Amino acid sequence: MADLEHYEYAIIGGGKGGKTLAVALATAGHKTVLVERDKIGGSCIRVACIPSKTMVRSAQVMALITDAFKYGIDATPPVVLMDKVMARKRDVVEEMTSANWEQFKRSGMDFILGTAKFIAEKTFEVASYEQTRTIKANKIFIGTGSRPFIPKIYDNVKPLTSEALMNIAYVPDSLLVVGGGYIGLEFAQMFQRFGSEVILIERGEQLLAREDYDVSDAVRKAIEEDGIDVLLNTQVLEASRNGVEVELKIQTTKGERTISGAQVLVATGRIPNTEALNLKAAGIDTDERGFIKVNDMLETSAKDIWALGDVNGGPQFTHISLDDFRIVFANLNGGNRSRKDRAVPYTIFIEPELARVGINEKEAIQSKKPFRLAYVPMSVIPAAKTRGQTEGFMKAIIDKENSQVLGIAFFCAEAAEIMAVVQVAMQARLPYTFLRDNVFAHPTLAEGLNMLFAENNIHEYSPELAALSHA
Ligand SMILES: Cc1cc2nc3c(=O)[nH]c(=O)nc-3n(C[C@H](O)[C@H](O)[C@H](O)COP(=O)(O)OP(=O)(O)OC[C@H]3O[C@@H](n4cnc5c(N)ncnc54)[C@H](O)[C@@H]3O)c2cc1C
Repeated sequence: MADLEHYEYAIIGGGKGGKTLAVALATAGHKTVLVERDKIGGSCIRVACIPSKTMVRSAQVMALITDAFKYGIDATPPVVLMDKVMARKRDVVEEMTSANWEQFKRSGMDFILGTAKFIAEKTFEVASYEQTRTIKANKIFIGTGSRPFIPKIYDNVKPLTSEALMNIAYVPDSLLVVGGGYIGLEFAQMFQRFGSEVILIERGEQLLAREDYDVSDAVRKAIEEDGIDVLLNTQVLEASRNGVEVELKIQTTKGERTISGAQVLVATGRIPNTEALNLKAAGIDTDERGFIKVNDMLETSAKDIWALGDVNGGPQFTHISLDDFRIVFANLNGGNRSRKDRAVPYTIFIEPELARVGINEKEAIQSKKPFRLAYVPMSVIPAAKTRGQTEGFMKAIIDKENSQVLGIAFFCAEAAEIMAVVQVAMQARLPYTFLRDNVFAHPTLAEGLNMLFAENNIHEYSPELAALSHA
């Protein structure tokens, strides 16, 4: 065994929560080491949110130019230069990665590039290119993230993951996307806009399984209007290669058939990066899927070891990994924070955007508490008209007893930005009337909140209304 190196704090995994914690602890003067097996930055910057949203933006520009005539502009039919799209993405990623590295250096932390594996209580080895080091720390934080889950049936076809699809230097003629969750949707629309023929396959009866049916149905219609072929209730039975094409044998409600495409993206969920860690050696329990079990303060079953981000089985978002950092850091400094009852907003970056926070209509019904439902189509909102973005709607659940907003689903242009306004009001426990009567600049999309919460757009919940919106 290599010489034992002692640290006050060790962080394994340089994702959002892990790296932020390492910088904060080191900056505060603690002897801290961050261990990362891959490049600096974590998934968000390198292979997930940032590169995908950078490419989504290119696809949006493509769609806007394609639609230019609607705005009175005669633009030459646009051409996608995939190498330039990739170069722009690389620049954004590299700029953010360099900024991270500068922060790491300024903080005074030790950074080790290598894969961590526990060998005993609070002790792990780091295997790196040149050597193996052994680290013991008073307190350890695991933030090793997650990776795509690829079912075995794809073993012979080398399907693309989201990461691989963001590195192909061309637009495939056709793309099969398996999985109607947010990653599948974002890539389906992106590549359809770049010029691929896209088929989206979802085994469930709706896209975005957790959303209200009317919301998911609106999403389906919007992407179908874009030209994406959406197959619901469809199971992939077999995957094979036929020359350069991938063939999928699928089971639909109308029977079996085979579809083919130049590439296939499998976006059917993510699994935790925990096997390599040898967690048992440190007494850290995992659940049946391999996620590290934590309590609401993110403490694992082993004393003085915490887990942050995707790996602890919480909602898989960068802002949640960051909030996990806030919880741990506050508690190390004498606080008493927990993840219980925190807001979990999220956005699906398609056009129109879908932004969600709080409970939805399904959950409101299950709660059996009386509620009211606010709904306004974007077509009546002045800024939506001026922008030519009248697709979609805003929907909100209101607590009938105290008039607070319990949840929203905004499916419209700039949905995520408008959501932030409502989220703050929700967290401040303001009644919906605050938003209804607030002065927002005209004409903005946020001004639509005045209309969403106007009395004529608020309905008492009734099973008939629910049936209507689910029709
Ligand atoms: C295509 C895509 C798009 C996404 N878009 C969004 C979005 O728009 N908004 C959003 O909020 N979320 C988005 N997400 C989810 C988001 O990226 C993740 O929730 C987030 O990055 C998780 O952060 P984390 O800190 O848990 O771990 P990660 O950022 O995954 O970091 C974990 C790090 O640990 C390292 N590691 C793993 N094992 C070891 C080991 N044994 N030793 C040392 N290091 C190790 C890994 O190399 C990795 O760098 C997206 C995900 C994908 C795939």
